[in-house]
Amino acid sequence: MSRPGLPLSDDIIDRILLFSPTFASLLATILTAKSFYNVFRTHPKSIVRAVAYNITGPALPQALSCIRHPDIARPYNKRPNEWGSEVPSEDENGKRSPTHAIGSPAQTTRSSAQAIGSSAQAIDMADLSEAPITAAETHKIVANAKVVARLEDLFSARYFDRSSSTSQLSQLESQIFRVAVYHLMLYSSIFHPSTWSNLLDSDDDDDDRDAAGLRRQQVLDKRTQFLSVISTPELFQIHSVGEFLKETFMWHIRFQGYPPSIRDLAPAVGPVLIVESFDDEEDSLETFEDILDLIEEDLDFHPMVTEYLSGPLVKILEARNEKPPQETFAHWHSISPRIFEKISQCDRCYTSYEFEFYHNGILTQIGFGERNDDPHYYLQTISQYLKGSLRYNKVESDCLRQEAQQYGSSSHLLVKIWDDLWNFNLVKQQSQSQLVDWTRDDFLCSSCFRMFLIENLWVWLWHTKAVSGTLKENCWYGYNCRTQTHKQVHAERLSHLCEQTRH
Ligand SMILES: [Zn+2]
Ligand SMILES: [Zn+2]
Repeated sequence: MSRPGLPLSDDIIDRILLFSPTFASLLATILTAKSFYNVFRTHPKSIVRAVAYNITGPALPQALSCIRHPDIARPYNKRPNEWGSEVPSEDENGKRSPTHAIGSPAQTTRSSAQAIGSSAQAIDMADLSEAPITAAETHKIVANAKVVARLEDLFSARYFDRSSSTSQLSQLESQIFRVAVYHLMLYSSIFHPSTWSNLLDSDDDDDDRDAAGLRRQQVLDKRTQFLSVISTPELFQIHSVGEFLKETFMWHIRFQGYPPSIRDLAPAVGPVLIVESFDDEEDSLETFEDILDLIEEDLDFHPMVTEYLSGPLVKILEARNEKPPQETFAHWHSISPRIFEKISQCDRCYTSYEFEFYHNGILTQIGFGERNDDPHYYLQTISQYLKGSLRYNKVESDCLRQEAQQYGSSSHLLVKIWDDLWNFNLVKQQSQSQLVDWTRDDFLCSSCFRMFLIENLWVWLWHTKAVSGTLKENCWYGYNCRTQTHKQVHAERLSHLCEQTRH
């Protein structure tokens, strides 16, 4: 067959289609030429599956069960795509609506069922995974894969390589992480908070209370059953991913005043919502509102939140004569033995810096990179970080503010201060401190950086004045002098940018 301009055999076209990195590129390729389209028509199912694999990697079976499992809870608010894994629609006869698969017939999974209402039938996960992929499913695969990849990037930057915003996990580590996220995604879609409403006690009726207790036990049994088919190493991996979701969630809501016990809610919120809201800097809580409303009143007592994941998980491990997941940093080694605690800690005080650190004077927020605008510091108020009584010295404070203005933003100013202090060898170490000395390539937590600034900002101001030749004679009491705070004449006559030399 002759194809002007495209002397490609069907085999080669087939290869090209199979290697499409996304469904969008597959579609674009099919639409370029009739010959491509014809090749696609000969075996659309395997091509679509191959492209799905290119998107999800080896986690494809888990990715598919996340959108096909018959027990996935129907979201109570039915906002489209809100949950990332909504139940496929059904027509009134209970049959599947025609789907618009790219050339494939509608798949034939069982009809959907409410998580709590359905009988505990064994689900053949292999069947779930093997049915041809429909067009509607391709969208969900892509959306969920984005969430999973984003979470992996955050995890890598937090625990593996803080200098890179994209995942530096090996192929195997990445696969381990992703499979665990998909497992948790499915778990949270089935045992979703929207299914908890009939599990609460009603206060006034004993029978109702017993019935609710029974339903809770059934749900806990179902959770245990769900996890019981998963291998022990994978359970540890799911636990670690659950812990990471908790950290991400807690970081996101850190200013909202919730009690620490709300941590346990994170795995129930699920990876999709947690990633979505983490990335939504504008509106920090809207995505969770429905879930928070559900439990806000009696969070501490809600029987479905406490040990949402860990309860059943530990039970299964016990039955297998395995120890529960470690509570130390070591549990992260379920994902990779190459993860080191040091990466997640401030180089000076060794506490976890969570999702933000300073490096070279620049604030980096994990997941968002370097901040152009440092939300912790303002040019107008930078003088409050002057040491001792200097911050109440109007003359020096004004001078610093004026100096600061020329850098335009606090980020630029902080970088300039950091560079000058190191370049001119001016950094003051805290002689009395239990903490290790500052070094130029430190990764610092916010509070250590603030300490650095308080220790050194006045030195920097001294330096700029020394350079411009505007330094006055030193006051004996240096930055500790009280007179500088209330006697303008004294503050103008002497320099207080110095250590105290007389007591
Ligand atoms: Zn620190
Ligand atoms: Zn003085």
